[in-house]
Amino acid sequence: MNLVFIGPPGAGKGTQTKRLVEEKNMVALATGDILRQNVQNETELGKQAKEYMDAGKLVPDEVMINMIEGELTNISAEQAVIFDGFPRTVAQAEALDALLNRLNKTIDNVIELVVDDEALVERIVGRSTCKTCQASYHDKFSLPKVAGVCDYCGGTEFVRRSDDTPEKIKNRLSVYNQEKSGIIDYYRKQDLVSEVDGMLEQEEVAGAIEKILVDGGLTYKYAKV
Ligand code: AMP
Repeated sequence: MNLVFIGPPGAGKGTQTKRLVEEKNMVALATGDILRQNVQNETELGKQAKEYMDAGKLVPDEVMINMIEGELTNISAEQAVIFDGFPRTVAQAEALDALLNRLNKTIDNVIELVVDDEALVERIVGRSTCKTCQASYHDKFSLPKVAGVCDYCGGTEFVRRSDDTPEKIKNRLSVYNQEKSGIIDYYRKQDLVSEVDGMLEQEEVAGAIEKILVDGGLTYKYAKV
């Protein structure tokens, strides 16, 4: 059971991915996270990607496709995978299909999280994560219970993404809006797309996703419970 999340920055893809990883024993390939890690570690890939990420632009397809190929070959055939942030272009979607085909895997569900553009800037600008355990917070919608202390690990350092500024968010949103319909059409032709209203409460979004996955054949074979 492999799943692709499509949605603009701030739609909640990361939050819902994290939940599925924790609850359903799925593995996430979150390309933004992988790239940020590479930038931080100053790897060759990180050096190639940095200028694009800083500008809120897409990293070239070839770089992304090589990266995802490397990641996928390290994952066992039976493992359910969530693609969070990939593919972002039709060329990436085609390459992913070809790659999965070679590995005897398929995409089983594509979930589009639909959110109002106006809500996104507010959602993104206030977000931060705990430096130690990566728990997510928001200045307005999700503060830690004790100010400045992570609810989960007690950490006191919080980080913000350097591309979460209003100017860069505008770029990232416009890139998303340019590429979105091509990818959605690509997967619609394969009858894989379900839309979920990303403006709902997180729990409701999770419930809607759960239903889609169960109807789409998630058997819980790999679930932790
Ligand atoms: P994200 O964390 O998904 O918002 O991604 C952060 C940044 O990483 C994006 O603004 C892009 O510069 C880059 N990136 C992540 N995934 C991709 C992708 N599939 N294709 C091209 N660039 C990507």
